[in-house]
Amino acid sequence: MPWMQGYPFYLVMGSILSLYMGGSSYRHRNTPGRRYLWLLLLLVSLMFAATAGEIMSDSFQAKLWWRNVQQAPLFWSTLLTYAVVNEYVSLSSQHLSRRLIIFSIPIVIDILLIFTDSYHHLMRSEVGIVTVAGISGIWVQPTLLSMALIAYDQFFGLYAAFLLAVSLLNAPKLYFKRNLLLLGGLLVPVVSVFLLPVLKITITGFTAFTYLPAVIAAYFTIFSDPRVSLYPLAKSKILDNMKDGVVLTDRYDNIIDVNEAGEVILSKLIGEQPKTWRGADIQRLLQQSDDVRSHYERRLEGHFEMDCPGTDDICYGVSLITTEHAQAGATGMLMVFSDHSEKKRYERELLHQATVDDLTGLYNRRHFMSKVQEHALQEGEGMALLLMDIDDFKLINDTYGHLAGDQALVNFSNKILSIYTTSGIAGRIGGEEFAVCFFASDEQAALREAEHFRATMNDHHVILSEGQRIRLTVSIGIAFTQRSDVTFEDLYRQADEAMYQSKATGKNRVTLGREPLIGRLEDSG
Ligand code: GH3
Ligand code: MG
Ligand code: MG
Repeated sequence: MPWMQGYPFYLVMGSILSLYMGGSSYRHRNTPGRRYLWLLLLLVSLMFAATAGEIMSDSFQAKLWWRNVQQAPLFWSTLLTYAVVNEYVSLSSQHLSRRLIIFSIPIVIDILLIFTDSYHHLMRSEVGIVTVAGISGIWVQPTLLSMALIAYDQFFGLYAAFLLAVSLLNAPKLYFKRNLLLLGGLLVPVVSVFLLPVLKITITGFTAFTYLPAVIAAYFTIFSDPRVSLYPLAKSKILDNMKDGVVLTDRYDNIIDVNEAGEVILSKLIGEQPKTWRGADIQRLLQQSDDVRSHYERRLEGHFEMDCPGTDDICYGVSLITTEHAQAGATGMLMVFSDHSEKKRYERELLHQATVDDLTGLYNRRHFMSKVQEHALQEGEGMALLLMDIDDFKLINDTYGHLAGDQALVNFSNKILSIYTTSGIAGRIGGEEFAVCFFASDEQAALREAEHFRATMNDHHVILSEGQRIRLTVSIGIAFTQRSDVTFEDLYRQADEAMYQSKATGKNRVTLGREPLIGRLEDSG
């Protein structure tokens, strides 16, 4: 047959084609679904090359050596077919490489036996040269052990076909044709192993050719699968363009993956210069928060807030998420950080607006009252409530204008604040009416304090924007109690009455109210 003269040439072409496809798949060796394709293609390339070597060698010894070299790709290609299909079907290769190593043990033994002269007979009972259609190659009579190992190996091919067939049932319509083509291609070498003895095809290199449809089908279906080409690329793009920081740790608490935002956020939270945190210990971060640490250590999910050290207004929300197959301590965790600074600022602003009078910066009426009510009296301590109303304030407005009046109120309030920053609670409870709550041992001490305050304000000059110095006097009413069952309202009523008393009796003075009566107390709620 004249076309058979080119036979070794076809084998070399098959080898080069598989080598090319293997090389271009190598780039994707970290791509889910394609991690093992390159290896399978290279094995098939080697299978072709070794077969060509066998045919083209002249001596029996050389032919036998090439035949032995073929055994490695022959055996491993079925196992790799299983690996390729398994990964393609599930896109996951957890523990797959470990399984492949274990499954390879009988194959390694097989090959060692073939290559070791003294044990060669365990695998092959007879070896000779056979010439079919002008092609002469090695002919072997396998032993029972060898046949068992071949059966073991072929099992993986069958199992791969089975996996693929099952996946066809569940595959989305879009992938049906592609998977069918892949199944068809992969079945060629698997089925031909069983058909060879029946068809009595003995031509050397036939097995290598049966792999050609398989690798071409695998290359074009798996390689061009948009899912596998897009998925890892898109995943890393998404992660790196996220505002949120994503940090993945392993079971030993090392950071094994972190996106760009995560790098920046970790630096801020740990309080160090920006750097890459991949490979660092996550404990550095966990030291910043007991809550986060205790959840992390027990591998519990949860949401927390963490403040950046050294800053008041940078705050991150931290979500702890367990990773796949979580058993306590067996895996790391996924941590997602999102910027809560704006939310925190907004909350602080709302709180400020709700509690502080915006003209004077003193507590507003409602917050002043709740602050006073929060305070629980200690044994031997009394509480004094001092109410004051600026005397003849209308006159200030009338003389200098309303804006100057505002300014006077601000200046006046600052003076109050400077006196009662730590020793009492001060608030603006009306237009030019203020209240101070302070603590005193008895009524006389409270009265002395109030008188001192009145005198201080009397001596104080309020400076207006146009340089005018004016003096403001206040009329004060004060009420005092040592009883914890007296309500704030009762105390207030007594102080208010006393303040009117001060107004009525000439202003710029202090009047002590009566001790609130017991028995008609209402709950302040
Ligand atoms: P007195 O208390 O001594 O009886 O006389 P008064 O002139 O202070 O009278 P009253 O307490 O009744 O009036 C308070 C005045 O304070 C009326 C109002 O125009 C003025 N006032 C209240 N709130 C503000 C404010 O926020 N800014 C300015 N500029 N004036 C205010
Ligand atoms: Mg008033
Ligand atoms: Mg007044």
